[in-house]
Formats: sequence, C-alpha cells, structure tokens
Amino acid sequence: MVNLPIYLDNNATTRTDPRVVAAMLPFFAEFYGNAASRGHSFGWAAEEAVAKARAQVAGLIGADPREIVWTSGATESDNLALKGVMERYADKGDHLVTVTTEHKAVLDAAKRLEAAGHRVTYLGVDGQGRIDLNALEDALTDRTVLVSIMMGSNEIGTLQPIAEIGALCRARGVLFHTDATQCVGKMPVNVQYLPVDMMSFTAHKMHGPKGIGALYVRRRAPRVRLSAQMDGGGHEQGMRSGTLNVPGIVGFGQTSEICQNELADPLNGEQAHLTRLRDRLIRGILGAIDGTTLNGHPTERLPHNANIAFEGVEGDALLTALPEVALSTGSACSSESVEPSYVLRALGMSDARAYSSVRFGVSRFTTDEEIDYVLGRLPDAVARLRRLSAARTPALAGSAGPPETSLVGTRTA
Ligand SMILES: *Cc1c(COP(=O)(O)O)cnc(C)c1O
Repeated sequence: MVNLPIYLDNNATTRTDPRVVAAMLPFFAEFYGNAASRGHSFGWAAEEAVAKARAQVAGLIGADPREIVWTSGATESDNLALKGVMERYADKGDHLVTVTTEHKAVLDAAKRLEAAGHRVTYLGVDGQGRIDLNALEDALTDRTVLVSIMMGSNEIGTLQPIAEIGALCRARGVLFHTDATQCVGKMPVNVQYLPVDMMSFTAHKMHGPKGIGALYVRRRAPRVRLSAQMDGGGHEQGMRSGTLNVPGIVGFGQTSEICQNELADPLNGEQAHLTRLRDRLIRGILGAIDGTTLNGHPTERLPHNANIAFEGVEGDALLTALPEVALSTGSACSSESVEPSYVLRALGMSDARAYSSVRFGVSRFTTDEEIDYVLGRLPDAVARLRRLSAARTPALAGSAGPPETSLVGTRTA
C-alpha cells in the first residue's frame, strides 16, 4: 500500500527531514537569543549554534567556514553574487556572461544589471541543455568581470561542465559564480577541487527549512570581494546585514551534516537511491508509453530529476488527471497568459512539445512503491487524454495544442 498523495515535486522544494525539525525546535522557544548579542548567555548559545552550523554547511562543500555567507535562500544568494560583484569590480569592467536557461533569480538579476548600464551576454544551449565551451570562450572580453552558469538545471536536470567552465574563467582572470542549488546535498560538490569562486545553494532543496540559504565566497586564490546588497549592522563580514535566522541556520547545518553522511555510499547512499528511482521512472515511462521522450541530457543530469514530454498531451491536463501525485509542468505562467517554458524553448523545442512536458523529482523519502504506483497510473491517463484531444480537435490528433483555457498556475522552482 502506498500513502497518497505522492510527492514528486522535489525540484521545487523538499520535505523537511524530521531530524532537522528536531534540531531546530529548541532554537525557537528556548535558545532564542540574537547571535550578535555579546553580553549574555542567550546570545552566546545562539552564536555557538551558528558557528557549529557554519562548519557543518562548509564541511558539506569542502569550504572554510569563513567562506559561508548566510542569506534568505538561493534567490538572494544569486542576487548578491551577481549584483555584489558587478558593483564591486566596476573599475575592472562591466560585462557579465550567463545562459538563457538559468533560474530567474540569475536572469532577472542580470536584467536589472543591464538596466543599470552593465552589458550581459546570454549564451544559448544545445538540444540537451549544455553550453558550448567555445562560445563561452568567444564571449569573454577584457571587460568581462563575471560568468554565472548553473551547475544543474532545476527544470530539465542537465548538468553543465562546471570544472571546464571554471578552468576557462581562471585562465582568463574572470570570476565564476555557479547556482548549485539542485546539486548540493544530492551529489558530491567540493569547492577544493572545483574552480568556482562563488556558489549559491539553499536548505529547502535538501530537506532543510525554507528561508535560509548560503553564498559560498572564495577567500583565497582569488579572494572575492562583494558590495553588500543589504546594509545594516554589518553582519556576515559586512556582506549581508540582518539578524541571523538562528533556527533556520541550525536546520541548514543539521541537513548538511545528514547529507554529507548519507550521500556517497556507492550502494546504499542517497545519490544511488535517487539515481535508481529516477531511472526506474524514466525506463518505466519510456518503455510503456509510446510518444514519450526524455528532455535534457541522457546521462549528464541530476540524480533526482526527470523531465518527460508526452506527445499529444498537455502537461497541465496530465497533472489534473493525476491529482494524487504532486508533479509540475515546465510552464511558468504570468497573470495574463500561459507561456511555454523558456528553458524548454531554449533547447529548440516546439511549443507543442514544451507544453506536453512534465517534471518529476524524487527524493530521499521517495519509495519504489510510489514510483510503481505512478507507473501504473500514467499509461491509462495518457491514453485517455490523447483520446479526448483527438475527439475534440481531430486535426490536432497526435500533437498537443496550446492550452485553450487559463490553467491553474504551476511554477517551476
Ligand atoms: C529553488 C532554486 C532557486 C531559488 O531558491 P530559493 O531558496 O527558493 O530562493 C534558485 N536556483 C535554483 C537552481 C533553484 O532550484
């Protein structure tokens, strides 16, 4: 028996691990001091807990604790990295390079910088979502300050060649930021070996609480400097002011330690668990349902993401047909119109295929039984929707048209 509903939207957020909740609770009601209060034991207890969590989070990514800057989440980390560096290094140049398939937190920060007079190059991707290293090399000029390219896509799961990108940036003396939100805690990520200068990640994508994230900022070779985007009491070495979210930070630390301990065992580790469930899902769908295709890269992909196009079916209709399974489509909707996903479009897909795509995300808590339940339900649901759409619009039989009515909004992470 499986418990319903089944949660397969783990690229949007994850269940907070009960061990993390337990670690956080005392820091609401009992140890509620301000970590910046130096004059009493309440403050000392909070400060000590923050220091422990800083070491736990740093330990997960191979960083020095002093290289961790607490933020409210990966959105803020991305904003701080892009705006903070472009502002701080304005005398060196005004050029930023990023990619069309980045998270909106990067793309909209880049747009804001453009509006303020900076120049931005948006690199395209191939049909599997990877950038071309030659195109990146060609884009770099002596005015380029920063390259920002995500490690793994929240939507299609494609991993970028981060080590090669970083090496290229190093060779050209350009700083490199990566949004590694989907990777940290799901696969080994170590800044001792990866030539990244800044890295964004967030607790709630790795079974920690929402509202707490981090920006890794390299201190040596090179030492990265940032202009603060939040002014105030000078917390976080002046890079991000504001009273620390102590319970959130404690939860982030606890979840980092759990991930570090449970991730890597080749047989029983979490990465192996995620990969196995993901592949069971992909093989089950592609094997049982005609007209299905995996979007993104076949092998260079996140262990916990599958994005699949169901030809002749609207993704949103499929979500409605399976209300007991929490899924997401690639489409982000504005108030007026339902646009096909810009990420899927950037791969060169037709609107029809983009509209027919559904994102599946597995987690530590996902079971084989849950995957089998979904595999059992999908073929009938897809067949029924195809019959319906064939009956409604015979001309469109076999291909998905754009949605006709306004649909309940589904947003990607
Ligand atoms: C979820 C996500 C974000 C945003 O993180 P928040 O902590 O919710 O602000 C940014 N980038 C990527 C790749 C994500 O998956």
